[in-house]
Amino acid sequence: MKELRITSNQRNQMIDITDEVQQLVKEEKINDGYLIVYVPHTTAGITINEGADPDVQQDIIDTLDKLIPENASYHHSEGNSDAHIKASLLGSSVTVLVTEGKLVLGTWQHIFFYEGDGPRHRTVYISLHQSR
Ligand code: ZN
Repeated sequence: MKELRITSNQRNQMIDITDEVQQLVKEEKINDGYLIVYVPHTTAGITINEGADPDVQQDIIDTLDKLIPENASYHHSEGNSDAHIKASLLGSSVTVLVTEGKLVLGTWQHIFFYEGDGPRHRTVYISLHQSR
């Protein structure tokens, strides 16, 4: 298992980790197989979506904020209930196929780490699997 270290610099942020993940596939010489990208945090998530137009990432952040405001009447006293809920909506892992040494992603697809309660130092686990 490999780890990526991520540093967010805003409370809510989408961080494109596609290049780092592709680099790991190269380093580990995965030709055909798959990998699991896993976020071990309760206020951050992982999602695959459009990487070409940054407005899409802003729309996702803004819409999550509208749906799940930071300040509402939550029970959890830590003040970050919105981040916990957003993390659950996005999920904590994605699976990505690999063929001929490349991530199998659609033309516009990128892998994003979603920060829900930054700025923070974060870790992403990546489990790489080679088909035999
Ligand atoms: Zn909390």
